[in-house]
Amino acid sequence: MTADAPTLVLGSGIAGLTAGLELARRGVSVEVLEAAPVVGGRTSSFVDERGRDVDTGLHVVADHYVNLLELLASVRASKRLIWVRKHTYLRDGRPPMEWYFSPWRPPLHLVRPVREMPLRSRERLASAFAALEIASRTQSDLDELDHLSYRAWHDRYRLGEGFALELAAAASDAATFLTVDKASARAVLSWMKYLMRHQHAGDVGLFAGSLDECLTRPLVDAIKALGGVVRTGVAATGFRFEGRRIAGVEVAEAASGKVVNRADGVVPGLAPSRRVLPAERVVSALPVQALRAILTPAQATDAGLSDAMRLDTTPAMSAIIWFDRAIRPVPEGAPLCTGCAFRDFIDLSVLGRTGPDAPGSVYQFVITRADSRVDDTDEQIIADVHADLGRVWPGAADARPVDAAVERIGAAMFAAVPGAHQLRPRVRSAVGGLYVAGDWVRHDANASMEGAALSGRLAASALLEDLGRPGVVICTPPDQTVVPALRQLRRRWSA
Ligand SMILES: Cc1cc2nc3c(=O)[nH]c(=O)nc-3n(C[C@H](O)[C@H](O)[C@H](O)COP(=O)(O)OP(=O)(O)OC[C@H]3O[C@@H](n4cnc5c(N)ncnc54)[C@H](O)[C@@H]3O)c2cc1C
Repeated sequence: MTADAPTLVLGSGIAGLTAGLELARRGVSVEVLEAAPVVGGRTSSFVDERGRDVDTGLHVVADHYVNLLELLASVRASKRLIWVRKHTYLRDGRPPMEWYFSPWRPPLHLVRPVREMPLRSRERLASAFAALEIASRTQSDLDELDHLSYRAWHDRYRLGEGFALELAAAASDAATFLTVDKASARAVLSWMKYLMRHQHAGDVGLFAGSLDECLTRPLVDAIKALGGVVRTGVAATGFRFEGRRIAGVEVAEAASGKVVNRADGVVPGLAPSRRVLPAERVVSALPVQALRAILTPAQATDAGLSDAMRLDTTPAMSAIIWFDRAIRPVPEGAPLCTGCAFRDFIDLSVLGRTGPDAPGSVYQFVITRADSRVDDTDEQIIADVHADLGRVWPGAADARPVDAAVERIGAAMFAAVPGAHQLRPRVRSAVGGLYVAGDWVRHDANASMEGAALSGRLAASALLEDLGRPGVVICTPPDQTVVPALRQLRRRWSA
């Protein structure tokens, strides 16, 4: 095998762009094929049917997204991130609360949130104990908890039905888009582990501009600058194997004309003529449902991907409301809400994304746990979001929507239910030359932009190693608690 043969990367979400860039940087010639008319997948920006400029969803970056942050720095895109420390936390029927962590080394950074939590003493003690327990666990310890739902784990520690459960519900939603009853303990506790271990756990990075400007275009430009190719409107429709090696990818081109973007890669109007692009190496950076659609059951078995094809997905929605007036005050940071139709939202003026002709505030909302809403009309969704916002954020009570957009993402994430982690495949398939990437493949991160970037790096690394080259250096989030220092002391003591 030589490094000069073409490598196809299927899908231009963060996973595909990361894999493409890491390979191009190491002299591998890459061609990224994207079915949709725009790059970015679940982090795409596009013009909708009514000509409005929208992003697929509000995306925030966490402090522990070490691979994504390094990648952004490498393409000089980190300057487009605004870091916010304090957040408005809204709860149905309660006054807004300011949420931030103390500025001290973990676990002391938890002092403020623990003090502010409306908990009974017994719950506070149990929560502190559980927090230490989570922080001290390794990722493989947490993997052992994948058979349990978060709710079962919570009940095991007798953490009660109060505010601790409410916070866990928010963490579960952030990590999995699922409720605590449905989400696996592994997925939720992995997210919480980072919160417990990171001094800046509460810091959130917001993209100051569209996802295209701040995230995907810099990655695409970097791939192109290295001689790589990124093509949109070209969908993979099947694989060709020769024995136990990949031999090519069948592709169809999207019909020319106006094709509306779909964040989950469902592209209407594919041209009937199908070509086969020969390839010795392919990185599939497709979401699981897209890979399932084009891999035959026999190919899935050969590639060792049959179990992974059983992974389910969960939907989400993104809603944007243009209001008739400016809503004041502007909520702090990345506001979060529990008990509402939406989970989090942002006043788009904070990101510099409100057009000069907008008469008032423009808010973007993320609607998770959306499986119960798929049959609702856009009007119903907007009415519920608007009613809930007016209840929890008093400044919004009199504001009236003048326009709205709802984007439905049928498969927003793989469903991280109990047992799902075991089904996640490793990046190197059992068919030579075929690698899989995507937020859903097996790695330590949850489905997220970090998970996608990490998977892209892992897939590129496996491919390079199979070419006999050094792999990609993978970043791991540091443990900033006193635990590593204590371990080092013990090692020195016993030496
Ligand atoms: C509303 C919403 C809000 C979110 N908020 C956050 C957040 O705040 N923070 C965070 O970290 N994560 C967030 N996420 C999750 C994050 O967007 C994803 O985890 C991440 O973008 C996944 O990247 P990916 O590359 O794995 O997959 P994708 O972005 O889905 O990329 C896969 C690509 O493959 C393409 N494709 C599909 N089929 C084919 C085919 N047959 N041929 C060629 N191409 C094909 C698709 O069009 C797509 O471009 C959010 C997701 C949603 C939906």
